[in-house]
Amino acid sequence: MELWYTEKQTENLAFSCRITRTLHRERTPFQDLAVVDTVQYGRMLILDGMVQTTVADEFIYHEMITHVALFTHPNPERVLVIGGGDGGTIREVVKHQKVKEAVLAEIDRRVVEVSREFLPEISCGLDDPRVTVLYADGIKHVQEKKGCYDVIIIDSTEPVGPAEGLFSREFYQAVAEALKPDGLMVAQTESPFVNADLIRKVTASIGEMFPVMRLYLASIPTYPSGLWSFTVGSKKYDPLAVRFEGELPFPTRYYTPALHHASFVLPAFVQELVAKK
Ligand code: SAM
Repeated sequence: MELWYTEKQTENLAFSCRITRTLHRERTPFQDLAVVDTVQYGRMLILDGMVQTTVADEFIYHEMITHVALFTHPNPERVLVIGGGDGGTIREVVKHQKVKEAVLAEIDRRVVEVSREFLPEISCGLDDPRVTVLYADGIKHVQEKKGCYDVIIIDSTEPVGPAEGLFSREFYQAVAEALKPDGLMVAQTESPFVNADLIRKVTASIGEMFPVMRLYLASIPTYPSGLWSFTVGSKKYDPLAVRFEGELPFPTRYYTPALHHASFVLPAFVQELVAKK
């Protein structure tokens, strides 16, 4: 008998892959959490019926949400990751030697615990001595901080449930206030095919809060449509002004200096969604 996982990505679109077994399933206080082994993409973390990450393609998302911002900031000493309980973003953050402190504010303790148990290759960075894990609502955390972080990375679930507020104008304002005077933020901002209205809204809000706002793209096979967007809001440093000298200080599998710049070159239909600056 074949076992298949099917995610209803929209009312009219589904993604299916064959699985060999379900390793874990529980209802946490925040969401339905599952870990399955897929044939095509390896082990997969699922929250509320939506793929969060897979062992085979996670490097694309985690490298792209992290390195664009951390190579744009000349001295990213204090970094906050909101969400990101699987640990993949933190694993990439701690590859940067300039980072002195990395804080993870994840609302759901069980995502971290289950990722540590079933996804060690993704969660391994959480053991770095520079990392502090807080089980907290990222919205409250940034509201309580002023001028504190160099970089804030918003590695959230889709804009439903506890993550809904992570896409609001008020939240981006609190993020701007939690950053130092030359700080910058980056957020995962969903698919231009499936979430066009959301991209219009968040790029307008981030553009209002920050003098530099830029959207960039990556191809992520297990996310709806495969085309994914990230948005940078920066008080000073422009990701397009970054110049790389020599090789990167650590190996990567997707991100490269050339791709850093290329990812900001947008197809016309995506350019149209991005609020004008
Ligand atoms: N790479 C993923 C994606 O785009 O599908 C996101 C991965 S990560 C697992 C997302 C995390 O955000 C979840 O573990 C969820 O519990 C957390 N989260 C959602 N809302 C949050 C909030 N308000 N504060 C902190 N964490 C939150």
